[in-house]
Amino acid sequence: MLAESKFSYLCNGCGLCCRDKVITLSPYDVIRIARADKVSTGEAVARYTLRRGSLLRFLPDGRCAALAGPRCKIHPGRPLACRLYPLGLERAPGADGHTCVERFVRLEPAPGSLGIYGAAGTVADFLEGQQAAPYLDAVARYYPLVGKFRGRVAATVDFERVEPREFWRRAAREALAETNYDPNPLIDALFDPDGLGCGRASAEETAVAHVAALAETAAWEHDGAIVAAAAVMLATSLGYAPGEV
Ligand code: SF4
Repeated sequence: MLAESKFSYLCNGCGLCCRDKVITLSPYDVIRIARADKVSTGEAVARYTLRRGSLLRFLPDGRCAALAGPRCKIHPGRPLACRLYPLGLERAPGADGHTCVERFVRLEPAPGSLGIYGAAGTVADFLEGQQAAPYLDAVARYYPLVGKFRGRVAATVDFERVEPREFWRRAAREALAETNYDPNPLIDALFDPDGLGCGRASAEETAVAHVAALAETAAWEHDGAIVAAAAVMLATSLGYAPGEV
């Protein structure tokens, strides 16, 4: 679906959509969650996420960790995926390598959901109602870091001696591991801008400072494997396939 495609959705607050999901978080999602819950980004990672901050945490009974009864505790800072639901967003790198191409898909409703689908507006109207723009802007702000990380990998790894495909496969395995992953200060920094000293008055200012600090941190990192895993993690957290790094 495109921005002008007919679409509308009325949420009736049943909470059924907030169960048993896999929801990827971007660094900006974590900033917004933290600000809505009035905690630091490090605390938000501990409370609401898995896989080093990159996935929303769901409890063993299937409920999202942010669900209180049928209500979202962090509603003003809910992640982009929750704002878009029941639409999904597919991204691919643009031809210039710096921008991205976006396409929306309609997701299946949760079983028993009381939400009402319609065609009273457009996808663009729906996104506006969900105040999704700052989240989409943040993806565009963070995405060029993937290229910078890749550049740092090229500068630190001798691909005459290291087989590139196996190197990047290992980076993807490391980035996407749920447990037993190696310490990676750059991945930690991706989801904890406050810990990196980037906390600012607004989420947007925090994101701007965070992107600059991440670029500088990566520029000083001499272990290409650390930077490569962080590149895969960042790309995935922004909605790209790991193989698109
Ligand atoms: S963050 Fe809020 S809206 Fe998103 S799944 Fe959890 S409870 Fe639902």
